[in-house]
Amino acid sequence: MDKASALRQYFGHSSFRPGQERLVDGILSGRDALGIMPTGGGKSLCYQVPALLLPGLTLVVSPLISLMKDQVAALTAAGVPAAFFNSSQTLEEYQEVFRGIRSRAYRLVYVAPERLENPRFAQLMAQQDVSLLAVDEAHCISQWGQDFRPSYLKIADFSANLCRRPIMAAFTATATARVQEDIVTQLALQRPVRVVTGFDRPNLFFDVQRPRHKLSALLSLIAQRPGKSGIVYCATRSAVERVWTALNEHGIPAARYHAGLPEEERRANQDDFQFDRRAVMVATNAFGMGIDKSNVSFVIHYNMPKNLEAYYQEAGRAGRDGEAADCILLYSPGDVTTARYLIDHSADGSELTQEAHHALRRMEQDRLAVMTDYCKTDRCLRGAILDHFGQDHADSCGNCGNCQGIFEEADITVPAQMILSCVKRVRDRLGYHVGASLVSQVLRGSKNRRVLELGLDQLPTYGLMRDTSQEQLRAYLDCLSSQGLVFTDPEHATLRLGPGAGGVLFRGERVTMTAKVRPAQVKPAKNAPEPVAAPAAPADSELLSALKAERARLARRDGVPAYIVFSNATLADMAAKAPDSLEALLQVSGVGEVKAARYGEEFLAVIAARC
Ligand code: ADP
Ligand code: MG
Ligand code: ZN
Repeated sequence: MDKASALRQYFGHSSFRPGQERLVDGILSGRDALGIMPTGGGKSLCYQVPALLLPGLTLVVSPLISLMKDQVAALTAAGVPAAFFNSSQTLEEYQEVFRGIRSRAYRLVYVAPERLENPRFAQLMAQQDVSLLAVDEAHCISQWGQDFRPSYLKIADFSANLCRRPIMAAFTATATARVQEDIVTQLALQRPVRVVTGFDRPNLFFDVQRPRHKLSALLSLIAQRPGKSGIVYCATRSAVERVWTALNEHGIPAARYHAGLPEEERRANQDDFQFDRRAVMVATNAFGMGIDKSNVSFVIHYNMPKNLEAYYQEAGRAGRDGEAADCILLYSPGDVTTARYLIDHSADGSELTQEAHHALRRMEQDRLAVMTDYCKTDRCLRGAILDHFGQDHADSCGNCGNCQGIFEEADITVPAQMILSCVKRVRDRLGYHVGASLVSQVLRGSKNRRVLELGLDQLPTYGLMRDTSQEQLRAYLDCLSSQGLVFTDPEHATLRLGPGAGGVLFRGERVTMTAKVRPAQVKPAKNAPEPVAAPAAPADSELLSALKAERARLARRDGVPAYIVFSNATLADMAAKAPDSLEALLQVSGVGEVKAARYGEEFLAVIAARC
């Protein structure tokens, strides 16, 4: 068998994607490999195809139990003998895998990194012919990445202790040069074939929204996507609880996931989501590294994440099947405060020296600033992301909120004068500068104790902007700051007048602000977080719906998630081609021989009944 027939026969794909073939060739020729591809880029195939062709076993190190389970289920469904080893197994299951390895029953075995340190496992492996050691989510080896796992550092030792050093191949979606170098050094890769593919995910639509009321905005976004599977990421556990409760109260079947829930419930909730029993998952970032649910059609961030790498990774869990999907970030300035708090109070790094700790924190603050810029920019959002990963791109992608949005320029001279004058008057009254939040409180006429104690309610600017919402006021402040009319003194975090402020205050200079007006956006009703009537989503064709129903039935019958039977992309291709024979069915992208044999007749019958 050669690589092309392995690809077709087992995975049902007619060609490799960019980058895959070079990695497969490199590995098959005996070289180490490093594959950097975006989420959904198809990294798994780069070691799964060689696993079918190399003489010995392929061992895959993978960080998460759910991921392993899923990959093994998918491989088994495709007819590739595979198994996994992890802490969730019973003794019998464990022994069965042990025996299977001894009798060479598997092509691939997935293991958690901790397992490599287990002496019995190491002993077993020392007696096997291991051809390839594939390290998935390899960025976990880097202290500079966000998912550092100390046990990844043991991989190189483990591989050196096998009876012969296997080919080593590492894969990740994290692009920074520093992490790449760390992977090469820590895994001791030897002259690896290196493939870095483009990071763009053209099927993802990116948008940042600044809703006045996040919960109603979220409810209407979900209501506009009936029956679609999606993830809502929140910054904290308490936000997950709040949002999850609200969604369920509004009749949206949602599951929740965060580190505060018992292991058992987490697993059950994840299954509910994977098996499409609940369409929406509300979670912290604890959910999802390596999640392989291919039919996620939207990822909404209820809060801004800590950095753009994390955002792109989380958002990238949408649309892995190649279908159009939405990545929407609901931004509010309070998110910056929360993120800063999370950075300052993060527990990890306790083994680091104080100096290293300090440096790490500063780096995280810098990354937060990049993330915040993304939320505020009016440039192409995809462009902003690709810039960050050092990739060239067109000026305008046409498929993001900023490229499609309509921008209006508003004259904000009057509110700008009010704000600048308030900054000046507070300073004159107290003899020192204060932070932006105190200035806002004065402008909005707050009865806050500090305002009253300092006598700021006596200022002529007190309460001048009573009717302006806090969000709006923040937006004005952001705008003034981006034009250099005010700036925040980094040392004391106080708000000061910038060089241009005098012109606005005393010489009548105008100030304008560009704001995005999105015609498609539904305005939430005041105070009432009721989802607005949803515009109809484009309906599936009758045939496609029937194929989906058949998929659901077979998935239930076999006890696997629906996308393990066939992905949405495969069903769409099937509906388009409407095959009338097994031969023709094998031409559908994603239909391999084993799946054709297992499910072919059922799907052909559905098609025959309708065409
Ligand atoms: P990654 O690990 O890089 O995030 P996966 O390996 O999980 O991505 O693959 C993502 C999706 O792409 C899967 O649904 C897979 O079936 C599909 N895929 C991978 N390679 C190909 C290919 N050559 N042709 C068509 N689909 C592919
Ligand atoms: Mg993967
Ligand atoms: Zn764009």
